[in-house]
Formats: sequence, structure tokens, C-alpha cells
Amino acid sequence: MKPRSCTDGVVVAAVRPRTAAAAAGLRPGDRVLAINGHSLRDAIDFQFHGADDQLTLTVDRTGEQQTLRVRRSAGAELGVELEAPQAGEIATCANKCVFCFIHQLPKGMRRSLYVKDDDFRLSFLHGNYITLTDLTEAELARIVEQRLSPLYVSVHATDPALRWELLGRPRANAEILPRLERLAKAGIRMHAQIVLCPGLNDGPHLERTVRELAPLHPHVATTAIVPVGLTRHRERLPALRTLTDDEARALVATVANWQSGFLQHLGSRFVFLGDEVYLVAGAPLPDAEAYEGFTVAEDGIGLVRRFEDGVVRSLQRRRRATTSRDVTLVTGTLYGPRLARLVAAIPGSRARVVPVPNHFFGGNVSVTGLLTGQDIARELATRPALGEAVIVPAVALRDRDGVFLDDMTPGDLAQALGVPVRIVEPEPSALLSAVCSAP
Ligand code: SF4
Repeated sequence: MKPRSCTDGVVVAAVRPRTAAAAAGLRPGDRVLAINGHSLRDAIDFQFHGADDQLTLTVDRTGEQQTLRVRRSAGAELGVELEAPQAGEIATCANKCVFCFIHQLPKGMRRSLYVKDDDFRLSFLHGNYITLTDLTEAELARIVEQRLSPLYVSVHATDPALRWELLGRPRANAEILPRLERLAKAGIRMHAQIVLCPGLNDGPHLERTVRELAPLHPHVATTAIVPVGLTRHRERLPALRTLTDDEARALVATVANWQSGFLQHLGSRFVFLGDEVYLVAGAPLPDAEAYEGFTVAEDGIGLVRRFEDGVVRSLQRRRRATTSRDVTLVTGTLYGPRLARLVAAIPGSRARVVPVPNHFFGGNVSVTGLLTGQDIARELATRPALGEAVIVPAVALRDRDGVFLDDMTPGDLAQALGVPVRIVEPEPSALLSAVCSAP
């Protein structure tokens, strides 16, 4: 692993026109080494030291050092986008969690997918979950000094021995509560996550974990419980199983009970269940207010509720009559039945919903975000008609390069199907525009 604190600076990916950075002459490709004399290790240092209105940038431009002066009025944007860190610059974990999804990936995928990041900087910048096991004293001090808050922490269990087992018996100390307490005392806000493995950290273990995290509220703002995801590629990995429907139903009831207790005592429900659990249980989703602002929706906590309520609201707001498009909507098998009902409720809808089984990962993987191009192509090839276009949710594509997890591109898929493929954001308005058009 490369040392986490290099002083190589940060590389500018883009400079927005008519901003302070553009006026100062900063260019894409420039490596900013220091701001006001402070060496930069990463994007966080850039944000931290770049907050002032008057900046002196030390820049490496094609091997030559230059000094650029930036002046901006209070509150004006700097206008810089930085390049994402390379794989070797990201801190990776030394754990072997029994449920690690990366260990369950098929062989032969692109290398970046196998990076086991456990980097507090990515947690702060992008909401990635970290275990805090390998965090050094210097890194802890930096989190506090630069107020890197909120952080997203993989807790899984507060019982130190159980957590150590779940993390694959790492060399580092797996005890989590003292670390959380220390960060809480320093005023750092955190979101905790528990990957629930039936038979390992459920039942009384889960109850203990939740009970021991609650006193850390509001610093530990939320605790999310998400079910373990298992692929069919688990050779030589510990035997695990998924939640049964009955267990999912029992968990929904238990969490509802905890939530009402916490609401009374903490003023927050504090514990939240992944959407997947409600879908597996066949239980109604909580109302929007029960998600308390959807703070961890991107982790699958309330995403379905927010999306569906948004569709209903958008439909109510639409004044103009629309005509329906003859299109095919692709989704994972878990959400398929709900999406079909949602689309059927759109007046005059002609769109068909096709839930695509995930053969690539297999196991219990049934979410839309892990669909591959080849599985979509295989499933749609069995359908007699696809209409004027196939609509694929953008969550199935890798953010940066716009390809499916199996490296197929939307263009490859369109060619295989002989129908245009449209990528839509998982937003209510995007769904409605995909299935309806103004006359
Ligand atoms: S912390 Fe655990 S789950 Fe996360 S990447 Fe490392 S081994 Fe995998």
C-alpha cells in the first residue's frame, strides 16, 4: 500500500470558465503542489487550504514550477475539478470480512473493481464505508483537525470478539466503540452500518450492537442495517446464508419497535433498515417522514420510498396531457414487481417492465445496480417486442466510464438488441420522461 500522506499535490481535471481559477490561469493537467505554502496531500487538503479568498498556488506545469495568485470575492466558487485519486493512492483494507463483496466477484473483471478501499478521505468525500481498523494516530488527528465529518463507519458488531471474526480476524484491533467514542468526543458526526449476516451478528448480537451505539447519538447520527449480499462465486469463503422471508418480516417488526423507543428517548428513530429487507419481507415501506430527511438514502435506506413518492408527486403536478411511449424498462428482479405496479399506474402507460435475473453474479444478487450488459441482453432476447427503446437505469453503469460491470457499453447492448438503449437517472422526472412524452 502506498503511504497515505504523500505530498505530490493534486491534479486539476477541469477549470470552469469565468471563475477565479480560470482568471488566475490555472489549467487542466496542472499539479497543484501547495496552497499558501501548505503542501497538499489530496483533495481534502485542497478543500481545506483553498477555502480562503486570496490564494497563492504553487503549481507544477509540465515539469516547471509556477506561482499563480487567485483572488475571489467572498462566497464565489473557485471553479476547479480535481482528478480522482489513482488506485495506488487509495488506502486499502487488510481485512478479510466474511461477507466482503469484492471477495465474491467473478475472476477476470477489470482491476479497479477489486480495490478494497478503506480510506477515511473517500468516506468523507464520497460516503464510502470504512472500518477504522487501520487508522493511525496521525490520521485520527487529521480527521479531528480538518473536521472531516460526517464519516461512514462499518460497525457490524460492537462485541469486539464478534467484530474481529466478522472482519476476518485482522491483525489490527477490531474494537470499535472506543474509536467511535473518541471521534464523537471530538465532534465528528458518523453514520454506522451493520451488514447483517443471519446466524452471525443478528438476534441478541444485533440488539447489543444497537443498544451500545445508541448512547453515541447524535454523533452517531444513524445506524443502517443492510442484508448481506451473496454471489455464486464464494469458493473457499466462509459459509453464509441470506435472510429468509420470515426473518426479514421479524426484523421489520423488531426495527419498528426500536424506532418508536428511540424516537421517544433520542428524538430520532436512529436505526434504519435497508429497502431490500422490506422488499424481501413483502412488508409495506415506511412513510417518507420515517426516513428523517433521507440522510443515507444512497446506501439503500429509503431510496425506493423517495423515488416512488417523487413519481406520484410528479404525476400530480403534470398539467399537460402526455402520450405514452412504447418502451421497455429494465430493472433487477427484486424491484421488478413494484416498478411494474408503479408504471401501470401512469395513465395510458404502454411501457413494459422486464425484471432481469442476475446470472453474472448469481446467488441472491437481485438489485438493479449490479446488472450487467450480458444479462440484460440475454433476458431481452427472449422477449417478442421491445418497443422503440430500451431504458436502462444509470445505476447499472460505472460512474466514471459509463460501461456495465462486465465492460459492455450501452452501444454494445443496443447493437446486440437492434433497438436504441437510453440511460436514465433513477429520478422520478427521468422515468416519466422516458415513458411519456408531451403530445
Ligand atoms: S473492509 Fe471488509 S468488506 Fe470492506 S473491502 Fe475490506 S474486506 Fe471487504
